[in-house]
Amino acid sequence: MPSTLSMPRIVDVVQTLRAGLTADNAKNAVVFYIVLSHARQAWRHVWARGLLTTFGEIYTWAAKGVLQVVLRLPSMRKRVATELGAVRAQIQRELVPSGPEVVQHLRLPVESQSLEWILDEMAKMDAQGPSHTDFRQGRLSGAVYHGGDDMEKILVAAFQRYCVSNPLHPDVFPAVRKMEAEVVAMCLRMYNNPTGAGATTSGGTESIIMSVKTHRDWARAVKGITEPEIVVPASAHAAFDKAAAYLKIKLHTIPVNPETRQVDLKRVRRAINSNTIMIVGSAINFPDGCQDDIVALGKLAKKYSVGMHVDCCLGSFIMPFLEKAGFPVEPFDFRVEGVTAISCDTHKYGFAPKGSSVIMYRSAELRQHQYYVNPSWTGGLYASPGFSGSRSGALIAGAWAAMHYMGEEGYLASCHDIVGAAKTIERRIKTEIPELHILGKPPASVVAFGSRNAEVNALEVGDRMSKKGWHLNALQNPPAVHIACTRLTVAVVDAFIDDLKQAVKEAKGAELGKGTMVAIYGLGTSSAIGPQMVGAVASAFLDALYQA
Ligand SMILES: *Cc1c(COP(=O)(O)O)cnc(C)c1O
Repeated sequence: MPSTLSMPRIVDVVQTLRAGLTADNAKNAVVFYIVLSHARQAWRHVWARGLLTTFGEIYTWAAKGVLQVVLRLPSMRKRVATELGAVRAQIQRELVPSGPEVVQHLRLPVESQSLEWILDEMAKMDAQGPSHTDFRQGRLSGAVYHGGDDMEKILVAAFQRYCVSNPLHPDVFPAVRKMEAEVVAMCLRMYNNPTGAGATTSGGTESIIMSVKTHRDWARAVKGITEPEIVVPASAHAAFDKAAAYLKIKLHTIPVNPETRQVDLKRVRRAINSNTIMIVGSAINFPDGCQDDIVALGKLAKKYSVGMHVDCCLGSFIMPFLEKAGFPVEPFDFRVEGVTAISCDTHKYGFAPKGSSVIMYRSAELRQHQYYVNPSWTGGLYASPGFSGSRSGALIAGAWAAMHYMGEEGYLASCHDIVGAAKTIERRIKTEIPELHILGKPPASVVAFGSRNAEVNALEVGDRMSKKGWHLNALQNPPAVHIACTRLTVAVVDAFIDDLKQAVKEAKGAELGKGTMVAIYGLGTSSAIGPQMVGAVASAFLDALYQA
């Protein structure tokens, strides 16, 4: 075969290379390679995030370093420990019941306790919490996605029938396998991809982590990417950050347009590079309930051959029904080219029991990369679709039952009522509370409001609402508050607006109080020390959850 390099010349090249590669040169080459690859990484980083953001990051990083040194000084360490101790004690007082009437159950009872005893103890514990909110009053944002009193009976019946079932053993529980496949199939049809594939998971967070893992393994297999990166709107759910942290993936957070609250497309495009495995859009996002420009993001994904996840965890059983319910809606599902995965929480507006979500992929081929298979395990051939090994068949039966009990008509009606409530809240804030403004143009069930000027602090308004018995969500950058409407909200819209007007009046010109929202988020964004302290407080909160 004719070759441009004849045999002798190849030998020449090899010999020259050998001569050149003395130990010293080799060392230089290694150093050069490391510098080069770091420079490339740094360049990509700066390119993706912009010079200003990068300088900001360097400043924060340096400030954190200085702070850590300062915090190590014995006098500072003592002060911080004292303050944190006080915060810890306060959190415990607010979460953990105490007093002579509280009986602790810290070890197994020697003898079996009766059902009456068990229910009796539960009733006591329900009433005992240091603070107690009756969710049925509807004064809370999200949290309980209630399907109505009848739905409770349906879920309990499904649980009872399948309470010991385990989908890991389809031969023992054939109905559970069938119901799981059907829950996924129904969601795929709702999101207009009947020929696609999916899986059930324990919740939105797991759906998102599985999708990131799937795209990572797909990108490695198909594109040879070994240092994966994802590009995520600042308004996307924290589950993407969690996935990146768990799976060691670099994450670029892209700011949103302050007016539309949609992710900045130019910045997304700039952040995409040869290591990108996927980009993300929300329909709708958690903080302000707005929807990214899914069509434009899909185009970018297609152009650069990267994955594209649309987070419909919250949009779940609302987004697919908006159009039929008569509300305006922009494209968000698999009909949009470039979309490769969608997460949909059955346990939100699907009214399935908590612990239920679906992750969908454009094709069964892509889903393959989610699987874990170990053919050589000592315990036998092991294969499972997602994170969990054994799972609850009762949760699957619950989701299947909820979806059949609701049907298209039921979900359409609930979409109509819930989004109707959100639109009323939005309209009334716009027309009746001039001190507040709505963030972006939320198409569905969430409404977020900030303050128009310095006269009123939105978080202070949130704290005043807490005093009136409302459980709303605080947002940061910028400070704002949101309410995610549920079926429980529908009945209390007027009460909400009345209380909100009152809260704004109280907060007007008032000195910032000591409410939780102001205390935590005021600290969080105002100084270099903030995030670290808030982090410590959050850890104390998690500790308190396990305080028996
Ligand atoms: C609720 C939610 C998730 C994930 O939530 P889980 O609590 O894990 O079910 C993801 N994205 C959005 C937008 C959400 O609102």
